[in-house]
Amino acid sequence: MAKKQIIPKKMPMPEQPADERIHNYNEVPYGYTPEQAMAEAQRCLECAKPGCMQGCPVGINIPGFLQLVSLGDFRGAINLIKETNALPAVTGRVCPQEDQCEGKCALCKKYEPVGIGRLERFVADWEAQQGPPTIPELPPPTGKRVAVVGSGPAGVTVAADLIRIGHHVTIFEALHEAGGVLVYGIPEFRLPKAIVKREVEYVCSMGVKLVKDFVVGTAATVDELLEEFDAVFLGTGAGLPWFLGIPGENLNGVYSANEYLTRANLMKAYKFPEYDTPIALGQRVLTIGGGNVAMDSARTALRLGAKESIIVYRRSRDEMPARKEEVHHAEQEGVVFNLLTTPVAIHGDKNGWAKELECTRNELGEPDASGRRRPVPIPNSNFRIACDVVVLSIGQSPNPLIPKTTPDLAVGKYGVVKVDDKTMKTSKRGVFAGGDVATGGATVILAMGQGKIAAAAIHQYLTTGVW
Ligand code: FAD
Repeated sequence: MAKKQIIPKKMPMPEQPADERIHNYNEVPYGYTPEQAMAEAQRCLECAKPGCMQGCPVGINIPGFLQLVSLGDFRGAINLIKETNALPAVTGRVCPQEDQCEGKCALCKKYEPVGIGRLERFVADWEAQQGPPTIPELPPPTGKRVAVVGSGPAGVTVAADLIRIGHHVTIFEALHEAGGVLVYGIPEFRLPKAIVKREVEYVCSMGVKLVKDFVVGTAATVDELLEEFDAVFLGTGAGLPWFLGIPGENLNGVYSANEYLTRANLMKAYKFPEYDTPIALGQRVLTIGGGNVAMDSARTALRLGAKESIIVYRRSRDEMPARKEEVHHAEQEGVVFNLLTTPVAIHGDKNGWAKELECTRNELGEPDASGRRRPVPIPNSNFRIACDVVVLSIGQSPNPLIPKTTPDLAVGKYGVVKVDDKTMKTSKRGVFAGGDVATGGATVILAMGQGKIAAAAIHQYLTTGVW
């Protein structure tokens, strides 16, 4: 067989220019054309032992779908992906592919990997343009009933997997929109909400019942759900933001990223007063943190009209946990990075509004438990940065409501629900958990991967009765 010609670089992704996009909320990358997609898929080396699949927590048949795309069989490709992934238009956009499938691509040793995420996104978008999705044939109902608490990626994955094997599934969601962080956290310019809606609707079209505005822990307890359902899955995420515990955090103009992004995205504060949620529109917005959430906040600030949007992060660029693409987009848009800097106090004006962030400079010390080099404050290095708005984006943990109302549910450090990671069983019979509620803030695909493990274990429990 003739040796395949290697094309070293990915097909470039067409995208909105940075100076235009900071004035709108439209998605940044436009996506591939069919011709670009086929050309990119043809870069696959068709390895005998494909590493890409090992890097995928939901086990997508990546070589199989790439081959179908390379032949122009987009319908075949999307059907193959959907056998294991109910949210391909989402994961194609937000997965940290560089650490997963693409990070394991054989091309990586010398060249750029195949753009697997871009191709996943392409076939999902292609399918949406063709009309309503194909609904798979479902087996007869088993008569078993499962309650899924939370409609984020973990909950939706569990629901999709269980409905496909004939169990009845009801999702209970606290908010008025389904999708979890995908709708209230990740901004429109990175993940259009119509896409999340479409993917959730796909799962509902298979027969999953969705009950919104229903807070488990107040409207009904887990024990009450267990009277009506044979099993319960907790996919309630990690929506409780952390604070720094420094003076001035209760000043006006100081937000947790969770509140800032929820106001801007879910409650559409950027359309105030057309939508009645206000948000402080600062000229100088400081975002504390270096993850995806921080990048989303800093980029949202620019779109809300900030003249300066500055990231304040205590380590260096190499230790930043955000996806490279997000850091790159933030920089292109003019976000400034103030690195090796730790906030120590927020100072306000006489009306109680944040006006200055006091910080110390750091140098990097030895690696800490996370494996990243520890920031060490430089003595007498205090300085101040002027600000109107401060957004704290330093992490989050699960909301304690369900553990508080479910006495026999064991929780661990930072309030995460304790699970057996091979089955996602909790300490309470009939109750499973997965996603951020079990790991703390992580990623969409890890939440989905845990959802798949839980669905298999729930099926086992429902069919054998063995806990
Ligand atoms: P969630 O998505 O948090 O969903 C939990 C759902 O449960 C929510 O809808 C919540 O309202 C509901 N709920 C909570 N309590 C109750 C209750 N008592 N009763 C009923 N419903 C309840 N990951 C990536 O892979 N790539 C990214 O680029 C990325 N960017 C991110 C940007 C932001 C701003 C944030 C906040 C996170 C980001 N993440 C990213 C992380 C990712 O979104 C999460 O890891 C993922 O959404 C976790 O999924 P989940 O289903 O466990 O929880």
